[in-house]
Amino acid sequence: MYPVVDSAICIACDLCEKSCPGGKEIRRPEPQILGSQITDQEIRRVSSSGGVFTALAARMIRQGGVVFGTIMNESMTAETVGIFSEEGLAAIRGSKYLQSQSADAIADAADLVNKGVRVLFSGTPCQVAGLYAKLGEAHPSNLMTVDFVCHGTPSPGVFNAYIKTLEKLHNSRVVRFSFRDKRLGWKDFSTVAVFENGDVESGTQKTDPFLRGFLQNLYLRPSCHECHLRFDTLPADITIADLWGADSICPERDDDTGLSLVLLHSDAGREWFESCRELDTFPIPSAEPLKRVNPSLFGPSTPHKRRSQFFRAYAREGFSFESLNRFLAPPGRLERAIERIRRIPSAIGRRLHGRQ
Ligand SMILES: Cc1cc2nc3c(=O)[nH]c(=O)nc-3n(C[C@H](O)[C@H](O)[C@H](O)COP(=O)(O)OP(=O)(O)OC[C@H]3O[C@@H](n4cnc5c(N)ncnc54)[C@H](O)[C@@H]3O)c2cc1C
Repeated sequence: MYPVVDSAICIACDLCEKSCPGGKEIRRPEPQILGSQITDQEIRRVSSSGGVFTALAARMIRQGGVVFGTIMNESMTAETVGIFSEEGLAAIRGSKYLQSQSADAIADAADLVNKGVRVLFSGTPCQVAGLYAKLGEAHPSNLMTVDFVCHGTPSPGVFNAYIKTLEKLHNSRVVRFSFRDKRLGWKDFSTVAVFENGDVESGTQKTDPFLRGFLQNLYLRPSCHECHLRFDTLPADITIADLWGADSICPERDDDTGLSLVLLHSDAGREWFESCRELDTFPIPSAEPLKRVNPSLFGPSTPHKRRSQFFRAYAREGFSFESLNRFLAPPGRLERAIERIRRIPSAIGRRLHGRQ
Protein backbone atom coordinates (compact mmCIF):
# COMPACT_ATOMS: atom_id res chain seq x y z
CA MET A 1 0.00 0.00 0.00
CA TYR A 2 1.28 3.43 -0.93
CA PRO A 3 -0.12 6.77 0.30
CA VAL A 4 -1.48 8.94 -2.53
CA VAL A 5 -3.12 12.35 -2.47
CA ASP A 6 -6.51 12.40 -4.20
CA SER A 7 -6.17 15.64 -6.14
CA ALA A 8 -9.94 15.73 -6.81
CA ILE A 9 -10.69 16.44 -3.14
CA CYS A 10 -7.37 17.88 -1.88
CA ILE A 11 -7.74 21.43 -0.50
CA ALA A 12 -3.95 21.94 -0.44
CA CYS A 13 -3.81 22.54 3.33
CA ASP A 14 -0.55 20.51 3.47
CA LEU A 15 -1.67 18.93 6.75
CA CYS A 16 -0.69 15.45 5.52
CA GLU A 17 2.86 16.64 4.76
CA LYS A 18 3.09 18.57 8.02
CA SER A 19 1.94 15.68 10.22
CA CYS A 20 3.88 12.93 8.38
CA PRO A 21 6.87 11.85 10.50
CA GLY A 22 8.78 10.78 7.34
CA GLY A 23 11.98 12.77 6.81
CA LYS A 24 11.73 14.64 10.12
CA GLU A 25 14.79 14.01 12.20
CA ILE A 26 14.53 14.61 15.95
CA ARG A 27 17.86 14.14 17.75
CA ARG A 28 17.64 12.70 21.26
CA PRO A 29 20.31 12.21 23.94
CA GLU A 30 22.38 9.04 23.47
CA PRO A 31 20.45 6.10 24.94
CA GLN A 32 21.63 3.83 27.76
CA ILE A 33 22.75 0.51 26.23
CA LEU A 34 22.09 -2.85 27.89
CA GLY A 35 22.04 -6.57 27.16
CA SER A 36 19.19 -8.59 28.64
CA GLN A 37 17.18 -11.80 28.55
CA ILE A 38 14.02 -13.05 30.19
CA THR A 39 14.75 -15.66 32.85
CA ASP A 40 11.77 -17.85 31.80
CA GLN A 41 13.44 -20.27 29.37
CA GLU A 42 10.20 -21.31 27.64
CA ILE A 43 9.23 -17.70 26.85
CA ARG A 44 12.78 -17.05 25.63
CA ARG A 45 12.57 -20.10 23.34
CA VAL A 46 9.45 -18.80 21.62
CA SER A 47 10.69 -15.19 21.42
CA SER A 48 12.88 -13.92 18.59
CA SER A 49 15.74 -12.60 20.71
CA GLY A 50 16.03 -12.60 24.51
CA GLY A 51 12.28 -12.28 25.16
CA VAL A 52 12.51 -8.78 26.67
CA PHE A 53 9.34 -7.70 24.86
CA THR A 54 7.15 -10.17 26.82
CA ALA A 55 8.41 -8.82 30.17
CA LEU A 56 7.72 -5.21 29.12
CA ALA A 57 4.26 -6.09 27.80
CA ALA A 58 3.21 -8.32 30.72
CA ARG A 59 3.83 -5.42 33.11
CA MET A 60 1.30 -3.30 31.19
CA ILE A 61 -1.33 -6.07 31.22
CA ARG A 62 -0.85 -6.55 34.99
CA GLN A 63 -1.55 -2.83 35.44
CA GLY A 64 -4.86 -3.21 33.59
CA GLY A 65 -3.61 -1.61 30.38
CA VAL A 66 -3.68 -2.59 26.69
CA VAL A 67 -0.70 -3.78 24.63
CA PHE A 68 -0.55 -3.19 20.87
CA GLY A 69 1.60 -5.59 18.82
CA THR A 70 1.70 -7.51 15.55
CA ILE A 71 -0.02 -10.84 14.84
CA MET A 72 -0.19 -13.05 11.73
CA ASN A 73 -3.91 -13.22 11.01
CA GLU A 74 -5.77 -16.13 9.35
CA SER A 75 -5.07 -14.84 5.86
CA MET A 76 -1.31 -14.82 6.63
CA THR A 77 -1.22 -11.03 6.82
CA ALA A 78 0.72 -9.15 9.50
CA GLU A 79 -1.66 -6.91 11.43
CA THR A 80 -1.21 -4.73 14.53
CA VAL A 81 -3.89 -5.37 17.17
CA GLY A 82 -4.69 -4.57 20.82
CA ILE A 83 -4.18 -7.33 23.43
CA PHE A 84 -5.83 -7.35 26.84
CA SER A 85 -4.54 -10.51 28.57
CA GLU A 86 -1.19 -12.21 29.32
CA GLU A 87 -2.31 -15.31 27.36
CA GLY A 88 -3.05 -13.01 24.41
CA LEU A 89 0.61 -11.94 24.28
CA ALA A 90 1.55 -15.27 22.62
CA ALA A 91 0.06 -14.06 19.31
CA ILE A 92 2.14 -10.87 19.17
CA ARG A 93 5.34 -12.53 20.40
CA GLY A 94 8.01 -13.10 17.72
CA SER A 95 9.13 -11.11 14.68
CA LYS A 96 7.01 -11.14 11.54
CA TYR A 97 9.29 -10.00 8.74
CA LEU A 98 6.60 -8.04 6.90
CA GLN A 99 5.09 -4.58 6.77
CA SER A 100 2.12 -4.87 9.13
CA GLN A 101 -1.27 -3.25 8.61
CA SER A 102 -1.30 -0.72 11.43
CA ALA A 103 -3.54 2.22 10.46
CA ASP A 104 -6.53 1.03 12.55
CA ALA A 105 -4.31 0.11 15.51
CA ILE A 106 -2.62 3.53 15.52
CA ALA A 107 -6.04 5.24 15.50
CA ASP A 108 -7.36 2.91 18.25
CA ALA A 109 -4.24 3.34 20.42
CA ALA A 110 -4.44 7.15 20.10
CA ASP A 111 -8.11 7.05 21.01
CA LEU A 112 -7.46 4.94 24.14
CA VAL A 113 -4.55 7.16 25.23
CA ASN A 114 -6.75 10.25 24.83
CA LYS A 115 -9.40 8.56 27.02
CA GLY A 116 -6.78 8.03 29.77
CA VAL A 117 -6.34 4.25 29.28
CA ARG A 118 -2.79 2.93 29.87
CA VAL A 119 -1.31 1.73 26.60
CA LEU A 120 1.93 0.01 25.58
CA PHE A 121 2.36 0.38 21.82
CA SER A 122 5.00 -1.72 20.08
CA GLY A 123 5.91 -1.53 16.42
CA THR A 124 8.46 -0.42 13.87
CA PRO A 125 10.11 2.94 14.64
CA CYS A 126 8.01 4.57 11.88
CA GLN A 127 4.77 3.17 13.35
CA VAL A 128 5.70 4.58 16.77
CA ALA A 129 6.53 7.94 15.13
CA GLY A 130 3.14 7.71 13.38
CA LEU A 131 1.35 7.24 16.70
CA TYR A 132 3.10 10.28 18.21
CA ALA A 133 2.19 12.31 15.11
CA LYS A 134 -1.45 11.25 15.46
CA LEU A 135 -1.48 12.19 19.15
CA GLY A 136 0.20 15.51 18.41
CA GLU A 137 1.86 15.35 21.82
CA ALA A 138 5.24 14.05 22.89
CA HIS A 139 5.16 11.15 25.34
CA PRO A 140 1.84 11.33 27.30
CA SER A 141 2.30 9.75 30.75
CA ASN A 142 -0.19 6.88 30.15
CA LEU A 143 1.64 5.73 26.99
CA MET A 144 4.73 3.50 26.90
CA THR A 145 6.30 2.87 23.48
CA VAL A 146 8.61 0.07 22.35
CA ASP A 147 10.21 -0.02 18.89
CA PHE A 148 13.00 -2.20 17.52
CA VAL A 149 16.11 -1.91 15.42
CA CYS A 150 14.57 -2.32 11.98
CA HIS A 151 16.33 -3.76 8.93
CA GLY A 152 13.24 -2.71 6.91
CA THR A 153 9.91 -4.41 6.25
CA PRO A 154 9.47 -6.71 3.23
CA SER A 155 6.63 -6.41 0.74
CA PRO A 156 3.47 -8.19 1.95
CA GLY A 157 2.59 -8.86 -1.73
CA VAL A 158 5.78 -10.87 -2.31
CA PHE A 159 5.18 -12.79 0.94
CA ASN A 160 1.62 -13.68 -0.13
CA ALA A 161 2.95 -14.95 -3.47
CA TYR A 162 5.59 -16.99 -1.61
CA ILE A 163 2.92 -18.54 0.65
CA LYS A 164 0.76 -19.41 -2.40
CA THR A 165 3.78 -21.12 -4.01
CA LEU A 166 4.34 -23.21 -0.86
CA GLU A 167 0.63 -24.09 -0.73
CA LYS A 168 0.72 -25.31 -4.34
CA LEU A 169 3.78 -27.43 -3.60
CA HIS A 170 2.13 -29.04 -0.56
CA ASN A 171 -1.38 -29.01 -1.99
CA SER A 172 -2.56 -27.62 1.34
CA ARG A 173 -3.16 -24.31 3.12
CA VAL A 174 -0.48 -22.78 5.37
CA VAL A 175 -2.06 -22.48 8.83
CA ARG A 176 0.98 -21.21 10.76
CA PHE A 177 4.18 -19.48 9.72
CA SER A 178 7.12 -18.61 11.96
CA PHE A 179 9.94 -16.34 10.75
CA ARG A 180 12.16 -16.87 13.78
CA ASP A 181 12.11 -20.47 15.00
CA LYS A 182 15.00 -21.37 17.32
CA ARG A 183 15.12 -25.13 16.56
CA LEU A 184 18.71 -24.66 15.22
CA GLY A 185 19.52 -21.96 17.78
CA TRP A 186 19.06 -18.19 18.04
CA LYS A 187 21.77 -17.20 15.57
CA ASP A 188 20.94 -19.64 12.78
CA PHE A 189 17.23 -18.92 12.94
CA SER A 190 14.72 -20.80 10.77
CA THR A 191 11.36 -20.29 9.12
CA VAL A 192 8.70 -22.94 9.77
CA ALA A 193 5.53 -23.32 7.69
CA VAL A 194 2.85 -25.65 9.07
CA PHE A 195 0.21 -26.88 6.59
CA GLU A 196 -3.40 -27.92 7.17
CA ASN A 197 -2.56 -31.48 6.02
CA GLY A 198 0.14 -31.86 8.70
CA ASP A 199 3.14 -31.16 6.44
CA VAL A 200 5.87 -28.99 7.92
CA GLU A 201 8.46 -27.15 5.84
CA SER A 202 11.38 -25.30 7.36
CA GLY A 203 14.40 -23.40 6.07
CA THR A 204 17.22 -21.34 7.53
CA GLN A 205 18.25 -17.77 6.75
CA LYS A 206 20.73 -19.31 4.29
CA THR A 207 18.26 -21.61 2.53
CA ASP A 208 14.73 -20.18 2.85
CA PRO A 209 14.05 -18.18 -0.37
CA PHE A 210 11.88 -15.55 1.36
CA LEU A 211 14.36 -14.91 4.21
CA ARG A 212 17.26 -14.74 1.74
CA GLY A 213 15.43 -12.10 -0.33
CA PHE A 214 14.60 -10.15 2.86
CA LEU A 215 18.17 -10.22 4.17
CA GLN A 216 19.59 -9.29 0.73
CA ASN A 217 17.19 -6.27 0.59
CA LEU A 218 15.51 -7.42 -2.61
CA TYR A 219 11.94 -6.43 -1.64
CA LEU A 220 11.94 -4.06 1.34
CA ARG A 221 9.47 -1.15 1.10
CA PRO A 222 11.03 1.77 -0.82
CA SER A 223 10.54 4.10 2.18
CA CYS A 224 12.72 1.77 4.32
CA HIS A 225 15.75 2.69 2.19
CA GLU A 226 15.25 6.37 3.08
CA CYS A 227 14.50 5.86 6.76
CA HIS A 228 16.21 8.38 9.06
CA LEU A 229 15.30 6.66 12.35
CA ARG A 230 18.45 5.32 13.97
CA PHE A 231 20.47 5.10 17.24
CA ASP A 232 19.80 8.65 18.53
CA THR A 233 16.67 9.52 16.51
CA LEU A 234 14.55 6.45 17.37
CA PRO A 235 11.20 7.72 18.72
CA ALA A 236 10.22 5.14 21.37
CA ASP A 237 10.86 5.06 25.13
CA ILE A 238 12.56 1.68 24.74
CA THR A 239 14.21 0.04 21.70
CA ILE A 240 14.74 -3.74 21.58
CA ALA A 241 16.83 -5.78 19.15
CA ASP A 242 19.00 -8.83 18.76
CA LEU A 243 22.31 -8.60 20.58
CA TRP A 244 24.18 -9.72 17.47
CA GLY A 245 27.92 -10.03 18.14
CA ALA A 246 27.22 -11.48 21.61
CA ASP A 247 29.97 -14.07 21.06
CA SER A 248 32.54 -11.26 21.12
CA ILE A 249 30.70 -8.58 23.19
CA CYS A 250 29.67 -10.86 26.11
CA PRO A 251 30.86 -14.44 25.34
CA GLU A 252 30.19 -15.52 28.96
CA ARG A 253 26.46 -14.80 28.45
CA ASP A 254 26.06 -16.32 25.00
CA ASP A 255 24.51 -19.81 25.08
CA ASP A 256 22.65 -19.31 21.75
CA THR A 257 19.20 -19.29 23.42
CA GLY A 258 18.72 -15.58 22.62
CA LEU A 259 19.97 -12.25 23.95
CA SER A 260 18.31 -8.88 23.51
CA LEU A 261 19.95 -5.54 22.98
CA VAL A 262 18.03 -2.81 24.87
CA LEU A 263 18.28 0.97 24.38
CA LEU A 264 16.64 3.18 27.01
CA HIS A 265 15.82 6.60 25.57
CA SER A 266 13.67 8.26 28.26
CA ASP A 267 13.28 8.34 32.05
CA ALA A 268 9.85 6.71 31.74
CA GLY A 269 11.38 3.91 29.63
CA ARG A 270 14.22 3.42 32.13
CA GLU A 271 11.79 3.19 35.06
CA TRP A 272 9.53 0.74 33.16
CA PHE A 273 12.43 -1.50 32.16
CA GLU A 274 14.03 -1.49 35.63
CA SER A 275 10.80 -2.58 37.31
CA CYS A 276 10.56 -5.75 35.17
CA ARG A 277 11.95 -8.24 37.67
CA GLU A 278 11.97 -11.24 35.32
CA LEU A 279 14.88 -9.85 33.28
CA ASP A 280 18.57 -10.70 33.69
CA THR A 281 20.37 -7.54 32.55
CA PHE A 282 23.97 -6.38 32.09
CA PRO A 283 25.57 -3.15 30.79
CA ILE A 284 27.11 -2.72 27.34
CA PRO A 285 29.75 0.00 27.75
CA SER A 286 29.82 1.32 24.19
CA ALA A 287 27.85 1.36 20.92
CA GLU A 288 31.08 0.96 18.93
CA PRO A 289 31.07 -2.87 18.59
CA LEU A 290 27.41 -2.77 17.44
CA LYS A 291 28.28 -0.82 14.29
CA ARG A 292 29.83 -3.85 12.61
CA VAL A 293 27.26 -6.45 13.71
CA ASN A 294 23.97 -4.52 13.62
CA PRO A 295 24.23 -1.88 10.86
CA SER A 296 20.45 -1.25 10.87
CA LEU A 297 20.92 0.54 14.20
CA PHE A 298 22.93 3.25 12.46
CA GLY A 299 21.32 3.77 9.06
CA PRO A 300 18.88 2.43 6.46
CA SER A 301 19.48 -0.73 4.42
CA THR A 302 20.83 -0.20 0.91
CA PRO A 303 18.49 -1.61 -1.73
CA HIS A 304 19.60 -4.69 -3.68
CA LYS A 305 21.11 -3.37 -6.89
CA ARG A 306 18.61 -5.33 -9.00
CA ARG A 307 15.54 -4.49 -6.88
CA SER A 308 13.72 -2.69 -9.73
CA GLN A 309 14.46 -5.53 -12.16
CA PHE A 310 13.09 -8.01 -9.64
CA PHE A 311 9.80 -6.09 -9.35
CA ARG A 312 9.52 -5.75 -13.15
CA ALA A 313 10.00 -9.53 -13.53
CA TYR A 314 7.55 -10.13 -10.66
CA ALA A 315 4.88 -7.98 -12.40
CA ARG A 316 5.52 -9.76 -15.72
CA GLU A 317 5.96 -13.41 -14.68
CA GLY A 318 4.60 -13.57 -11.12
CA PHE A 319 6.51 -15.26 -8.32
CA SER A 320 8.50 -18.48 -8.50
CA PHE A 321 11.52 -19.82 -6.64
CA GLU A 322 13.37 -20.07 -9.98
CA SER A 323 12.87 -16.39 -10.84
CA LEU A 324 13.72 -15.32 -7.24
CA ASN A 325 16.94 -17.34 -7.40
CA ARG A 326 18.00 -15.42 -10.53
CA PHE A 327 18.33 -12.30 -8.37
CA LEU A 328 19.80 -13.69 -5.16
CA ALA A 329 23.42 -14.52 -4.39
CA PRO A 330 23.49 -18.31 -4.67
CA PRO A 331 23.71 -20.33 -1.45
CA GLY A 332 27.05 -22.08 -0.86
CA ARG A 333 27.61 -25.83 -1.47
CA LEU A 334 27.10 -26.66 2.21
CA GLU A 335 23.75 -24.78 2.29
CA ARG A 336 22.60 -26.57 -0.89
CA ALA A 337 23.45 -29.96 0.67
CA ILE A 338 21.56 -29.03 3.87
CA GLU A 339 18.58 -27.92 1.77
CA ARG A 340 18.48 -31.29 -0.06
CA ILE A 341 18.58 -33.23 3.23
CA ARG A 342 15.98 -30.91 4.77
CA ARG A 343 13.48 -31.59 2.00
CA ILE A 344 13.70 -35.42 2.24
CA PRO A 345 11.20 -35.97 5.09
CA SER A 346 8.66 -33.67 3.43
CA ALA A 347 8.99 -35.50 0.09
CA ILE A 348 8.61 -38.91 1.78
CA GLY A 349 5.62 -37.57 3.70
CA ARG A 350 3.92 -36.41 0.50
CA ARG A 351 4.55 -39.77 -1.20
CA LEU A 352 3.15 -41.67 1.80
CA HIS A 353 0.04 -39.51 1.62
CA GLY A 354 -0.25 -40.13 -2.15
CA ARG A 355 0.04 -36.45 -3.04
CA GLN A 356 3.21 -36.57 -5.22
C1 LIG B 1 10.74 -6.26 10.15
C2 LIG B 1 11.71 -6.43 11.30
C3 LIG B 1 13.07 -6.12 11.12
C4 LIG B 1 13.98 -6.24 12.18
N1 LIG B 1 15.31 -5.93 11.97
C5 LIG B 1 16.20 -6.08 12.99
C6 LIG B 1 17.59 -5.77 12.80
O1 LIG B 1 18.04 -5.40 11.71
N2 LIG B 1 18.43 -5.92 13.87
C7 LIG B 1 17.98 -6.35 15.10
O2 LIG B 1 18.78 -6.47 16.00
N3 LIG B 1 16.66 -6.63 15.30
C8 LIG B 1 15.77 -6.51 14.28
N4 LIG B 1 14.43 -6.78 14.50
C9 LIG B 1 13.97 -7.04 15.88
C10 LIG B 1 14.11 -8.48 16.35
O3 LIG B 1 13.76 -9.37 15.30
C11 LIG B 1 13.19 -8.77 17.55
O4 LIG B 1 11.86 -8.43 17.22
C12 LIG B 1 13.52 -7.97 18.77
O5 LIG B 1 14.84 -8.26 19.12
C13 LIG B 1 12.58 -8.28 19.93
O6 LIG B 1 12.73 -9.59 20.33
P1 LIG B 1 12.16 -10.13 21.74
O7 LIG B 1 12.73 -11.50 21.90
O8 LIG B 1 12.37 -9.14 22.83
O9 LIG B 1 10.61 -10.18 21.61
P2 LIG B 1 9.61 -10.77 20.53
O10 LIG B 1 8.48 -11.36 21.25
O11 LIG B 1 10.28 -11.62 19.56
O12 LIG B 1 9.20 -9.37 19.86
C14 LIG B 1 8.14 -9.21 19.10
C15 LIG B 1 7.81 -7.75 19.04
O13 LIG B 1 7.98 -7.27 17.72
C16 LIG B 1 6.72 -6.78 17.23
N5 LIG B 1 6.63 -7.10 15.80
C17 LIG B 1 6.82 -8.31 15.24
N6 LIG B 1 6.67 -8.22 13.91
C18 LIG B 1 6.36 -6.94 13.64
C19 LIG B 1 6.08 -6.22 12.43
N7 LIG B 1 6.09 -6.81 11.23
N8 LIG B 1 5.79 -4.91 12.53
C20 LIG B 1 5.75 -4.30 13.72
N9 LIG B 1 6.03 -4.92 14.90
C21 LIG B 1 6.33 -6.22 14.85
C22 LIG B 1 5.68 -7.52 18.07
O14 LIG B 1 4.49 -6.81 18.10
C23 LIG B 1 6.38 -7.54 19.41
O15 LIG B 1 6.27 -6.28 20.00
C24 LIG B 1 13.52 -6.68 13.45
C25 LIG B 1 12.16 -7.02 13.63
C26 LIG B 1 11.26 -6.89 12.57
C27 LIG B 1 9.79 -7.25 12.78
